[in-house]
Amino acid sequence: KPLIVAQQVNKIFTNGCQALKDVSLTICEGEVVVIIGPSGSGKSTFLRTLNQLETISSGTICIDGIDLADKRTNINKLREEVGMVFQSFNLFPHKTALGNVMLAPMKVLGQSKGQALESARNLLYRVGLHDRMDHYPSRLSGGQQQRVAIARSLAMKPKVLLFDEPTSALDPEMVGEVLDVMKELAQEGMTMVVVTHEMGFAREVADRLVFMEEGELILEETPERFFNSS
Ligand code: ADP
Ligand code: ADP
Repeated sequence: KPLIVAQQVNKIFTNGCQALKDVSLTICEGEVVVIIGPSGSGKSTFLRTLNQLETISSGTICIDGIDLADKRTNINKLREEVGMVFQSFNLFPHKTALGNVMLAPMKVLGQSKGQALESARNLLYRVGLHDRMDHYPSRLSGGQQQRVAIARSLAMKPKVLLFDEPTSALDPEMVGEVLDVMKELAQEGMTMVVVTHEMGFAREVADRLVFMEEGELILEETPERFFNSS
């Protein structure tokens, strides 16, 4: 079942830079799509259009059957359903791991403190941080902070998770622990769109690889076909 349908998407920034050129892509429920391409090819811009951090200049994007451009579409509701994990973890420094994961479910979803606490504990357990729940971000490694950020996104019960170079800011020894969490999510059936340079992850976890170059989507391929033909 298609969850994200992007058709002929163009994005031209006010400075004239065309970051996306006629990008069309359909992503189905439970699918893991990895986007690859050189720096400046539009990968990040494309992800950002999917959760409305950027508006598009033309074309259409539908998520779960809802047209993002439709005036009646509730963008805040949509952002809840489309989670995003960034290169920089952006945790609130004055809140513990648990506090970071509980915040949005209480403020945005209106969960009670008890509910939010229970689900935050479960999520932190799931990302392997059961013994770090009361730590402030400054006392967590980069890999641990990024796992908190993933738990925080999951707390909103998103239909899809977008990852924008989630391991690029990490020391090499911490990349694996974050990729392992992402791999588990994929195995549990989470729909994911991932911009990454981690080819091992792409090969092992992706259902589909998408290549971008100068704003265009130039190739879609299964990992089997891609890695065997190159
Ligand atoms: P990638 O993620 O593949 O590195 P980006 O999506 O970040 O590529 O950028 C695509 C192109 O759009 C680049 O040429 C970049 O400089 C440009 N760009 C990105 N954001 C903006 C912006 N806010 N204003 C103008 N140009 C931008
Ligand atoms: P990334 O590597 O994550 O794609 P960048 O370092 O390219 O991010 O850009 C960082 C921020 O600056 C982003 O919010 C992007 O939209 C913006 N940006 C990138 N290129 C330009 C540009 N040419 N003009 C204005 N803003 C830009």
